[in-house]
Amino acid sequence: MNNYGYLGIDVGSISTNGVIISPEGEVLHEIYLRGKGNPIESVQLCLAQLTAELPDSFRIKGVCTTGSGRILAGAVVGADVIKNEISAHARAALHLYPDVLTIFEIGGQDSKVTILRDGAVVDFSMNLVCAAGTGSFLDSQARRLNITIQELSSRAMTSANPTNIAGRCTVFAESDMIHKQQIGHDQKDIMMGLCHALVRNYLSNVCNGKEIKPPIVLQGGVSANNGICRAFKEALQCDIIIPPYNMVMGAYGAAIIAGKSCLEKTKFRGKEVSTHHIITKGFECGDCPNNCEIIEIIDDDKLIGRTGGRCGKWEGKTGTRESLKRTGPAGPVSGHSTDRQMEDKTCKQVDNVPDLIQIGIPKN
Ligand code: SF4
Repeated sequence: MNNYGYLGIDVGSISTNGVIISPEGEVLHEIYLRGKGNPIESVQLCLAQLTAELPDSFRIKGVCTTGSGRILAGAVVGADVIKNEISAHARAALHLYPDVLTIFEIGGQDSKVTILRDGAVVDFSMNLVCAAGTGSFLDSQARRLNITIQELSSRAMTSANPTNIAGRCTVFAESDMIHKQQIGHDQKDIMMGLCHALVRNYLSNVCNGKEIKPPIVLQGGVSANNGICRAFKEALQCDIIIPPYNMVMGAYGAAIIAGKSCLEKTKFRGKEVSTHHIITKGFECGDCPNNCEIIEIIDDDKLIGRTGGRCGKWEGKTGTRESLKRTGPAGPVSGHSTDRQMEDKTCKQVDNVPDLIQIGIPKN
């Protein structure tokens, strides 16, 4: 075994996942943790459990974070690369299945479809507001039936005659499910009907207008549900690939990205970070009408990162708020401006024209 590897961490709305890979891309350790509402503690726990079995001589030579909490996680562990989850999931799927053309990724609170052609992402889409095509749809119905999500999955697989559930939203699904229970439908048929309802929603909302072609890889937390896999196969009349590491593909892809980033020296802060006292504080940036709520991440009184701004002004800057506002005259734009020079220019140009409307430019 090599004595070094790469770390990927994926912080989502429901779970925090981590993977350590060898230089050849082989998974050495993986972990899937259900989040408990505190992403910093989840990242610390994830890091502690991932590194617990590593020998002291093992070195992490690169770190990449992804997921909705990627900036926060990146500051906590010291990420070298921070990538969105579309890129991370695609990288992992392509590593295992170079010919993949479609990735379905369904998590607890969001779901995405990624379209690939010739090994590159060419299109993607995600659910915007509706939870009916996500894992939380099944979670809420399983709770309503007083069973676990694993039971729902295994019982759904025994259904020979799935019930048609009107699943356009969780509220309609619940009332329809109660109605079907009252008129005597078998519970296993109702459960398989719920899986079909989720898949129908996903295909009609998230995949609307997308060219869905096999090979199709299904990943994310919901891919562990056999009923969902069966519903996709029946709806699309083709095979659905459930990859190894299906629950942690975002973290796996992040680790691969870290490994391919040709880093000379990692910013990884060490596994000891898992025991640090890390807190957050917030303030409102009033520099334009967006009034973003900026979160500062503080490790034992040291500011290690910021997140929450829509224009990128604060992210990655670890000086004090006051020093960042002392912008000075803006210099000429050059192709090699530092972050600070670019920031000076952006802020000074806005600050110097008080008679004009001040705006921030959202990054995404
Ligand atoms: S967009 Fe930028 S400048 Fe505007 S409030 Fe947000 S962080 Fe401040």
